[in-house]
Amino acid sequence: MSEVVNRFLKYIAVDTSSSEETGTHPSTVKQHELAKLLYRELCSLGIPEEDVFYDVEHCYIYCRIRGSGDYPAVGFISHMDTSPEASGADIKPRFVENYDGGDIILSPDRVLSPEDFPELSMYRGQTLITTDGTTLLGADDKAGIAEIMTMASYFVSHSETEHGDICIAFTPDEEIGEGVEFFDLKRFSAVYAYTVDGGVIGELSYENFNAASIEIRITGRNVHPGEAYNKMINALRVAEMIDSKIPDSERPDTTRDHEGFFHLTMLQGGPACATMKYIIRDHDRTLFEEKKDRIVSICNEAASETGARIDHNLRDSYYNMREMIVPDNMFIVNRCVAAMERAGINPLIKPIRGGTDGAMLSYKGLICPNICAGGHNFHGVYEYISCQSMEKITDLLIEIVKGVVLDT
Ligand SMILES: [Zn+2]
Repeated sequence: MSEVVNRFLKYIAVDTSSSEETGTHPSTVKQHELAKLLYRELCSLGIPEEDVFYDVEHCYIYCRIRGSGDYPAVGFISHMDTSPEASGADIKPRFVENYDGGDIILSPDRVLSPEDFPELSMYRGQTLITTDGTTLLGADDKAGIAEIMTMASYFVSHSETEHGDICIAFTPDEEIGEGVEFFDLKRFSAVYAYTVDGGVIGELSYENFNAASIEIRITGRNVHPGEAYNKMINALRVAEMIDSKIPDSERPDTTRDHEGFFHLTMLQGGPACATMKYIIRDHDRTLFEEKKDRIVSICNEAASETGARIDHNLRDSYYNMREMIVPDNMFIVNRCVAAMERAGINPLIKPIRGGTDGAMLSYKGLICPNICAGGHNFHGVYEYISCQSMEKITDLLIEIVKGVVLDT
């Protein structure tokens, strides 16, 4: 078995599910188990102890492999936690060697079938790792960690290869949106990095949504329905009116690629008062601002048409990292594309219909596109990854580091 696959199996054996419930940092203590393991492994590679740092308070690992010449530093980041949406405990990986392109029986009632997941067909002849149908696999994002660790081990043992500083960080709680909360940019020290947290091999994303959320509180006027004539203002009907003013063509289920949307995530209440929540997404900053303005005017209109009182709380969540990359920092993307070509990987550049840790970091000053880690069907029991993808992505990371020297 190759080094990257071996490492991957070791990391998925550690349960690191994060949790939305606890409110602590990290959200679950068990993430420290993987942090400790990675800390020990980095030290045992022969990286001097002063260049490996374990933030015991917040559960982050930082590491620097010092460069051999005067080249700019490049960073790589992966997250240690797995999604709370499926169990990450006691994962029993299954190997499917020389995959024949057919159905893979995970368990008596779960089948990983190319009919449901057509991407499977591109892995004919490869070795896949799947779950036993009871847990997630943890390729998101332990494949990224295994690839970064194997790349690190390559450069430590090939000291003759010229390179700049390689900065590495492993973070907790990405899956609950808190991965960069305590990220120490100063300690990380690179000015740009790649999060190795994407899906299929070749994936490269430097655009994500601009994101906001709005909570709308509607106060109606509730009176006995028998005496309601010209008196009652039913908050639920006002909520309905607000939602009906948003076109069906601007919803998550009717949009794709670069199209933004309004997504009603919550509606509750009664005739006296009701609360609605939307998330608002658009890659384009102008259209994003327009959407925010529009929902506020819809609320104002509904208030004046019905006489209800409508309060709202509109908040930005994160922004599209593209603005930080195009045009001045496009070399970060181009360097990755060139490295993919040298590693024999076909680049698949696509916008992320969501956000990433990298998006938040980009606005904190660390520019951070997202690249493939190799897996599919994240956050559930159908998750799988190809061993060959992990090996090639390791080569890709090595080529990115070498690319810094080539470009300098
Ligand atoms: Zn991830």
